[in-house]
Amino acid sequence: MRGTRDRAAAVQPSRPDAPRYRHAVVTGGAGFVGSHLCAELLDRGTEVTCVDDLCTAHPDHVRALTGRPGCTLLRADVTEPFSVAQPVDLVLHFASPASPADYLRLPLHTLETGSLGTRNALALAREHGARFILASTSEVYGDPLEHPQSERYWGNVNPVGPRSVYDEAKRFAEALTVAEAEVHGTDAGIVRLFNTYGPRMRGHDGRAVPTFIRQALAGEPLTVTGDGRQTRSLTYVADTVAGVLAMAGSELRGPVNIGNPDEISMLDLARLVIRLTGSSSGVRLIDRPTDDPMVRCPDITLARGKLQWEPRVTAPDGLARTIAWFRARERGD
Ligand code: NAD
Repeated sequence: MRGTRDRAAAVQPSRPDAPRYRHAVVTGGAGFVGSHLCAELLDRGTEVTCVDDLCTAHPDHVRALTGRPGCTLLRADVTEPFSVAQPVDLVLHFASPASPADYLRLPLHTLETGSLGTRNALALAREHGARFILASTSEVYGDPLEHPQSERYWGNVNPVGPRSVYDEAKRFAEALTVAEAEVHGTDAGIVRLFNTYGPRMRGHDGRAVPTFIRQALAGEPLTVTGDGRQTRSLTYVADTVAGVLAMAGSELRGPVNIGNPDEISMLDLARLVIRLTGSSSGVRLIDRPTDDPMVRCPDITLARGKLQWEPRVTAPDGLARTIAWFRARERGD
């Protein structure tokens, strides 16, 4: 039985027209986005093997997943070769520390997961003749000099800055995925995900949405970095999951941007969270991290045209659902 808390995390109904996979492997499936992907695949009748070393996973996600019929957790670090006995027709490679707090704490693990982990996940897809999707990131655009960012933009990344362990790992993972498809003919695609938020984020993972919600619910000041004018595009997790599965069901190699083009400044985001929570919190400006991008907004012409995908959930709606989930967790139901 899925508990109330997990039902609160259920994000959108399955799409009946979507391709049916028999068995998918989701690396990083016990994490935030990965656990939603696993849940959606299970809802669609796909068996799921979730491969995760649990380095940044929340134990609740793991319990919710492994309690579901058709879901198996393989506790493994993807930087080491791994195999799955049962035939696999889809590999979603989502393993990687993703929040700055995590990848700054785990710099070498992040680089190795992007490089060795991607090599091993690609090898699994090749062995099974499965479709492979790499979860890349808008961070490959670095601090962009082009705005909004289309897939044709090559990015502006500091290769030796603190964030490079994540950005460069993903850039390498993209190059490896393209080379693998060329050399071995593996059916591989790349999605570049923009900042995704929603239920099941960890309140202390350092990303803006869960940090602001946690602070607002606790009546603490919301800590906005710099002057708060830097922008992000926030995509609700159900939209991200739909975009990833649309990409999986296509024959595109990509990369394809999956993100919400509604751009919002960090200060406006903080004010919106305060309004939606009804909190009496104020805002406190703190130092901006090194190499923090000034703007972030996807050009999603490609996803709209080739995948017939675009985000459906507005920021106020998605934030309200996320706040409701955080409140339910606080109450322990
Ligand atoms: P997350 O930290 O919640 O989940 C990552 C999962 O990967 C965790 O369960 C972790 O334990 C697992 N993992 C990490 N290294 C591993 C390894 N070597 N072997 C096995 N498991 C490993 O992060 P998330 O936000 O869910 O992100 C998931 C993926 O999506 C990442 O690849 C990330 O780069 C990508 N992405 C996320 C966002 C976002 O806004 N959430 C944006 C762009 C890209």
